[in-house]
Amino acid sequence: MEKVHRVETPRGVEYFLFRFRNFRLIRYLLNWGRMASLFPAHITTACCSVEFAATHSPRYDPERFGWLPATGSLRQSDVLVVEGTVTSKMAQRLRLVYDQMPEPKWVIAMGACAISGGLYAKDSYNVIQGIDDILPVDVYVPGCPPNPSTFFQAILLLREKILYGRVA
Ligand code: SF4
Repeated sequence: MEKVHRVETPRGVEYFLFRFRNFRLIRYLLNWGRMASLFPAHITTACCSVEFAATHSPRYDPERFGWLPATGSLRQSDVLVVEGTVTSKMAQRLRLVYDQMPEPKWVIAMGACAISGGLYAKDSYNVIQGIDDILPVDVYVPGCPPNPSTFFQAILLLREKILYGRVA
C-alpha cells in the first residue's frame, strides 16, 4: 500500500515566518516605525520658510503625525525639505547635504520655487528650474507659499508612501 505523506502546517511563530517568508510583515513594521517618527532637516533660501515655521507652531502641532522638530543633525534626519529658490551655485551644496543623510531618506519640494524655479522659472541664468534636477523628490507641495494645511497634506502623502513603499 502506498505511503501517504502528511504535510505539516507551521503553527505559532513559525506560521508567521512561513506566511511572511518574504519579510512583508517585517518590512511593514519597519516602515510603520519610520512613518511615525520622521526626523526632518530643511534647507531654507527664501520666503517659504515663514510658512514652514508656522507649520511647526502649537496651533498645527505636526508631532501628532510623527513629524518631529527640524533641529537634529543631518546624520539623524530622514526627510529633507527644500524651501525656496535654489541657484546653480547652491545646487552642489544641496546635493552634498542630501548625500550626508543616511538611507532611507525622502525629499519634499516646498513651494513653486523649489518645484519649478517659481518666479525665476524663465529668463534667469542662475536659478535651478526645479530641484528634481538635483535630488529625487518624493512629494511636491504646490503654492507660493504653500500654507500649513497644504504642507500637512504632503506629510500625510509621504507617510503613505513610506508605509506602503518597498523601502526596507
Ligand atoms: S514659492 Fe513663493 S513664497 Fe516660496 S520661496 Fe518662492 S517666491 Fe517665496
